[in-house]
Amino acid sequence: MGDPIGHSLSPLLHNAAFDTLGLDWVSVAFPVPAGGVADALAGMRVLGIVGLSVTMPHKHDAALLVDECTDVAGRLGVVNCITQTNGRLTGDSTDGAGFIEALRRGCHFDPGGRRCLVVGAGGAARAVVMALADAGADEVVVVNRTRARAEAAAALAGGRGRVGAEADVAHAELVVQATALGMAGSDGPPVPIDPEALHDGQLVADLVYSPAVTPLLAAARARGAQTMGGLGMLVHQAALALERWTGMEAPADAMWEAVQGRISPTGGMRGTPPVGDA
Ligand code: NAP
Repeated sequence: MGDPIGHSLSPLLHNAAFDTLGLDWVSVAFPVPAGGVADALAGMRVLGIVGLSVTMPHKHDAALLVDECTDVAGRLGVVNCITQTNGRLTGDSTDGAGFIEALRRGCHFDPGGRRCLVVGAGGAARAVVMALADAGADEVVVVNRTRARAEAAAALAGGRGRVGAEADVAHAELVVQATALGMAGSDGPPVPIDPEALHDGQLVADLVYSPAVTPLLAAARARGAQTMGGLGMLVHQAALALERWTGMEAPADAMWEAVQGRISPTGGMRGTPPVGDA
């Protein structure tokens, strides 16, 4: 559920998984206007809906209105996934764990002991900052236009988090772009940092997945860095949600195949309007 929701790839991801698992389940997108979460959750209870994916603008409200939050969702104060078990609603946030899974499975990169830097301090960045610290990163530096938000995000990494500046980019082993800059159709500059600082030996990850190769990733590749687009995080946060709902191992490869061809290399979706968040 979200608003807008017509662009969401989530039903495509979930239904591909249900088909592969042989489950007679279906995922559909519910447009729910701001302020409608309490009614939506009442509907979920009475209709016996097993799981809900939650996107903007409902992630905060959902965290307040579920019966309980997981540790991760409680610390972040947001929920992107709700599971109904025996009439109780549990809220979780799978974005951060999905990002770590994408790093490990897609790039064979383990953040443990690594110097990581996140550009941005919004909802997606906060989930990634906390997940990197939880995964044992040596340090998590947050670089953001608004310093107060950078401080709040860095605090999620505890003693390993600090606010940094662009000068820190060259020293990071992992650089994560977690703003909407570079997204197809977005306003503003195409990159939030000067790509000149990127170099061989770094992994540069962009949370934006449309286009598949963002301006920052193209610049990083040209400078010899390894790159990762945002689609892996999208797939793995959905896979983790699906595991909460079904208790089965999610077929991440089938989910990946279901959406990979939908992203045009130059941005936007084949057959549907341009995408934003999951
Ligand atoms: P958000 O909460 O609105 O945060 C936006 C961030 O971008 C803020 O830190 C903001 O800085 C910064 N920003 C915006 N305009 C900027 C500019 N012109 N220059 C420098 N910084 C700028 O957004 P979000 O929900 O975190 O999402 C961020 C991106 O991640 C989106 O593109 C979203 O689609 C993507 N995402 C991807 C996945 C995935 O599965 N791949 C999941 C979630 C989100 P200030 O604090 O200074 O305003």
